[in-house]
Amino acid sequence: MSDEVRDVAIIGGGPAGLSAGLYLCRSKVDTVLFERELPGGQALYSPLIENYPGFPEGIGGAELTEKMKVQAEKFGLETRTFAAVEGVKDGGEIKTLLLESGKAQARAVIVATGRHPRKMGIPGEDEYTGRGISYCATCDAPLFRDRVVMVIGGGDAAVEEALYIARFAGKVILVHRRGELRASDYLKERARAEPKLEFIWNSALAEVKGDKTVQSAVVVNKETDERTEIPVSGVFIYVGNIPSSSFVAGLVELDDAGYIKTDETMATSAPGIFAAGDVRANQFKQVIVSAAEGALAASSAQRYLERIGARKAYGGAAV
Ligand code: NAP
Repeated sequence: MSDEVRDVAIIGGGPAGLSAGLYLCRSKVDTVLFERELPGGQALYSPLIENYPGFPEGIGGAELTEKMKVQAEKFGLETRTFAAVEGVKDGGEIKTLLLESGKAQARAVIVATGRHPRKMGIPGEDEYTGRGISYCATCDAPLFRDRVVMVIGGGDAAVEEALYIARFAGKVILVHRRGELRASDYLKERARAEPKLEFIWNSALAEVKGDKTVQSAVVVNKETDERTEIPVSGVFIYVGNIPSSSFVAGLVELDDAGYIKTDETMATSAPGIFAAGDVRANQFKQVIVSAAEGALAASSAQRYLERIGARKAYGGAAV
């Protein structure tokens, strides 16, 4: 990696990072984006996004984020894929990103690393991940055509993905630890109307069993302690998420759940380091919120560069 100091390094290529890249590059701020896998973030795995304005028929998450990437790159965003950032060293006006191999330097950093699915920590989970247990319906639902599949969780993700899996599976059993769904009313209504969807309430997944692949799931009723082994071919787990912030713990202030705290300008507790999107301590985890926060973080990073005198004039359109 060269010793070149870039103006802004964005870490994470989901809607927040890509929108920050678009705004910065359109203003001709020298920007590089590091993404540990392929750009798109968690939206990449959403089969249909129906609440992003401008797409009245809905749009697949992969298509939407690909459009965001193309738009940002049109203005010159440099995107480095499969480049995981493992730490950030704050040297004042120059920050050093520690990559899997090598380093990179920038004057300002935007952390937009999002979240990753929470695991349940039950017997069989690690053993059968990729062999019947999945955290991504978009990726794996077509593998379970006409089979019986279990979905764990009661939030928007669990219900939305259960509805998607029902397009392929013969039956979908949604297991939730309480007696009512947390999901939004709109999704609840659609779930009630889906004939392939059955519910097991007040119950927890205790174990997943199988041979080479998943054959059954053991569910425990929390009120009666009764254990039931149910034959299933697949188990999709949607029990929330964990912020991908451990690599900046100790550098910026986090809340109790590990989300990055910022002010309303997206500035973290460390000058020159900003956060945007799902990794930030915000109330509403939505693609549109992430995109908006990316734009705000870009504007704040640009102002920060002006303040430290790192950039004196901008040739592009105002952020
Ligand atoms: P979430 O809203 O935090 O829901 C997690 C679900 O998993 C809850 O029902 C929770 O139960 C359950 N759960 C947590 N830990 C569990 C455990 N150990 N065992 C069993 N169940 C457990 O997470 P999410 O559904 O991934 O959604 C995250 C955010 O993204 C939300 O803000 C959501 O609105 C947003 N999102 C929006 C859309 C959309 O707008 N279409 C789609 C997907 C996600 P309790 O209910 O008992 O707490």
